[in-house]
Amino acid sequence: MMKKNISVVMIFAAILASMNCGERMIQEKAPIEYVQRELDKLAPVALQCDLNQIPNSEIKTLKKLIQAAQIIDQLFLLQVDPENLKLARELERYRGTPDQPYLDLFTVMFGRWNRLDHDKPFLTNKAKPLGAGFYPPDMTKEEFESFLKEHPDQVEAFESNFTVIRRIESKLTAVPYYLAYQPYTEQLAKLLEQAADETNDPTLERFLRLRSQAIRTDDYYDSDMAWMDLNGDLEIVIGPYEVYEDALFNYKAAYEAFLCIVDKAESEKLMQIGGYLNDMEAHLPIADRYKNFNRGAGSPIKVVQEVFAAGDTKAGVQTAAFNLPNDERVREAKGSKKVMLKNVMRAKFEKCWIPIAHAVLAPKLLSLVSFDAYFNEVLMHEMSHSLGPGFITQADGQRVDVSKKLKECYSVIEECKADVLAILNMKFLIDKGVFSREIEPSLYATYLGGMLRSIRFGINEAHGGGVAIQFNYCFERGAFKIDEDGKLDLEEKKLYPTLVDLAHQLLMLQATGDYEGAKKFIEQYRRLTPVLQTAIDRLHAVPVDIRPSYPILNELGLNE
Ligand code: ZN
Repeated sequence: MMKKNISVVMIFAAILASMNCGERMIQEKAPIEYVQRELDKLAPVALQCDLNQIPNSEIKTLKKLIQAAQIIDQLFLLQVDPENLKLARELERYRGTPDQPYLDLFTVMFGRWNRLDHDKPFLTNKAKPLGAGFYPPDMTKEEFESFLKEHPDQVEAFESNFTVIRRIESKLTAVPYYLAYQPYTEQLAKLLEQAADETNDPTLERFLRLRSQAIRTDDYYDSDMAWMDLNGDLEIVIGPYEVYEDALFNYKAAYEAFLCIVDKAESEKLMQIGGYLNDMEAHLPIADRYKNFNRGAGSPIKVVQEVFAAGDTKAGVQTAAFNLPNDERVREAKGSKKVMLKNVMRAKFEKCWIPIAHAVLAPKLLSLVSFDAYFNEVLMHEMSHSLGPGFITQADGQRVDVSKKLKECYSVIEECKADVLAILNMKFLIDKGVFSREIEPSLYATYLGGMLRSIRFGINEAHGGGVAIQFNYCFERGAFKIDEDGKLDLEEKKLYPTLVDLAHQLLMLQATGDYEGAKKFIEQYRRLTPVLQTAIDRLHAVPVDIRPSYPILNELGLNE
C-alpha cells in the first residue's frame, strides 16, 4: 500500500493542474443529428420498484445509500476523465435548450466518448485515452513498463486495482484511490457509516461498516467477505469493482453501485428449483458415466429489484445480472454470488425484446411470448452452467478442467449448452409440476423470439455465437422455419427432440474434451446465414438498450 512519501498537497496540485481551470472544455461537437440518433438507440424507461416490501428502517438506510451512490457517480466521472466534473458544469447550460441532447448523451456515457460507437468522440476532437483517467494522458504502455523495470519495489503499488498513476514533479507516482479522490472518498465513507447506523439488518450493518473502512484504506477483502453473508431485505454493492474501463492494462477498478431490494417470491422459487439440481443432472441426455453429481451448486443466485445504480455499471449499456466479488481469495473461501436484476430485465424485455419479436416472429407465436417465460429461461440458463461435465479424468488418472481441453472453443460451447439445457430443464420442471403445463408453448415461442436479441450484437462473442449455433441447428432440422410472410416460425413437435439431440452433442464434446470436434461443430453452425441476416436487417430501428431514470429519487425527496 502507498502511504508514505506522498504529500497530499503535491497530489492536489497535480490534480488541479490537470484540470485546465478557466479554459473552455467543449472544443468540437459532433453534429446534433448524430447525437440524437445515438440517444434514440436507448429507450427511456422509468425504473419501478416496490418499497412496500421493506420496513421503514431500511427505507432510511436506502436514502443514505442513494446519497452515497450519487458520490459514486462523481467518482466514476473523475475516473473516466479528470475534466468531466468541469465539463458537466459547462454542459448544464444546455438544459432546456435545443442542445440538450449533448448533455443527455454525456450523462449516459459519463464523458465525451460514445460507448455505443467504439468510443467515438462527440464533445471533443481527441480520442479517448486507453487508460481513461487512471494514468497521465501522455503516458505510454512502454513508459509504465520500463519505469517498473527500474523500480521493482513499485510494482505492487503501480499494478494495484486501487491506485491511480500521476506525474508528480515529472515522476510517475502511484496514488491510492482514497487520497487521489478526496474529498469524495471521505464523504462516501461517512455516508456508508450513517447508513450502517440506520439499518436493522446485522449482516448489512457489518458489511457497510467494513466497506466504509475499506473506502478509507483501499483494502476491500474483509468487506467482500462480509458481502457474501448479506441475508436481509437489501442487496447492496458499492465500491470499486470492474477493471474494463482501464483498457490500457485492465488494472484499475472503476467505482460502481447497485442498490437493490431482494425479491422474496423469486428467492423461494429458486430454493425449490435448487432442490432439483441432482435430478436435472440425472436427466441429462448422456450416458451415466459422464454425469457429474459432485459439482456443487456453483454460485448462489439472488433475484432482486434495482432501486438505483451508479457509476461504471450505469454508463452505456445497463447491467441485468452480475457475479461478484472479483477477489479470487474471497471466491475460494466463500464462492461468489450471482445477482439478477428482475425489473431491469423486465424493462429491457418490454423496450428492446418485444419490438424484436414484433419484427421477426410469426403472429401466432407473438401472442405466446411472455416475460415470465423469458425470465425463467434466463434463470435456468444460469443454473444450467453448473450441470454437465466440468472435469475430465485422463488416462493417467489426472483430472483436467473441460475449459482447458476445449480452449478458445469452450465459452461458446458452454453458453450454447446453458441455453439448450435451460429449455430442457424448464420442460423437466413442468413435468415435475414446479411450473404449470400451460407455459410450455410460451416457453418455445419465447426461446425463438429471444434469439435475435443476442445474435444482433454479433456471433463472435460467446452468447451470440452460441445462439447462432442453436438457430442453425434447429433450422436445418425443420424445428424452426420461415412462414409465407418471411417471419420466423417453429414446429413444436420437432423442437424438443431436436434440442435433446443438440444437448447430447454439446455435452459429449465437453465430456470427451474433444477440441477438434468442438472446432468443427462451431465452424459448421456458427454462421450468419441469409435467413438470420434478413431477420437482423429488420431490427435497425429497434432500441439496443434502455436509458433508466429513477422516480424513486423524487419519492424519497432526493435530488437527481
Ligand atoms: Zn451463461
